[in-house]
Amino acid sequence: MGANEIRERAREARRLSSPCRLCPRMCGVDRAAGDRGYCGAGPIPRVAAVIPHFGEEPPICGRRGAGTIFLSHCNLRCVYCQNHQISRGLIGAFMSPEVLATHMMELQRQGCAVLEPVSPTHHLPGLLEALALAKEQGLELPLVYNTNGYETAETLDLLEGIVDVYLPDLKYADSTQSLRCSDSEDYVDIARAAVLRMHAQVGNLVVNTSGTAVRGMILRLLVLPNGVAGTETTLAWIRAGLPLTVTISLMSQYSPLHRSADVPELNRRLFEHEYDGAMNVAWEMGFENVFIQDMDASEVGIPDFALEKPFLWD
Ligand code: SF4
Repeated sequence: MGANEIRERAREARRLSSPCRLCPRMCGVDRAAGDRGYCGAGPIPRVAAVIPHFGEEPPICGRRGAGTIFLSHCNLRCVYCQNHQISRGLIGAFMSPEVLATHMMELQRQGCAVLEPVSPTHHLPGLLEALALAKEQGLELPLVYNTNGYETAETLDLLEGIVDVYLPDLKYADSTQSLRCSDSEDYVDIARAAVLRMHAQVGNLVVNTSGTAVRGMILRLLVLPNGVAGTETTLAWIRAGLPLTVTISLMSQYSPLHRSADVPELNRRLFEHEYDGAMNVAWEMGFENVFIQDMDASEVGIPDFALEKPFLWD
């Protein structure tokens, strides 16, 4: 999509942010006037890190890393959030669209495989304005939309033709757990509807000859201790509504961080037999494209956003 049309979508995103209905929280606050809603985001993007990142699935990282933009604030409150320093808005620099566009071009210059904003939705107006500027400067990287899945249909429709690859979570299979663990009672229904809409836009994952993602969707399922995520139920739901060829990323990297102790079942790491059980279910259901993780992924995957390089592996 060209810069002018992206700029028009950015204007529409601005309209959706005052009163704010960019996400299912529907806070209705006037962000342009300085009011803040549940996520705490303002009118200007707040950025915690811009780095070539090697912690994503292989088609997202390519050989030289994903061009990842970690955005501050969030519309969920996951008790175990590994990015809690930034999701709670403790770290992050305000960036104009012009500065953000310069960073996007630098990620492309460094040979990154994709451009990947993380938790972008509440910063969509400024992000799209930056994207339009970067397009005018020659940005060609596929856009990967890394989201917790808590998205409205209206916002996703705004992204049609702009996002190349969706990278959504499906965190839970029942509302009791989504409320306890992420402060969202309607997460399951909303995220499932969002995932179907994303898949209708972009279809299954497509990679180029180098194995880098160029279009499609990767569904992320973080396996939680004591079955809190309901992974088997979520896999059954995916099988019922999406092709068995859809790409799933089954993640083992859970660590009891932040306020995990508030939910006693989450106050430990995942056992190997729990992860093996989830892998076996995916296998028995017939899914054909499943990324798996080593059990020690959590050792190197916990970031510290106070550092210039937040991740050990970058
Ligand atoms: S983006 Fe933020 S302010 Fe807007 S509706 Fe969602 S949580 Fe509320």
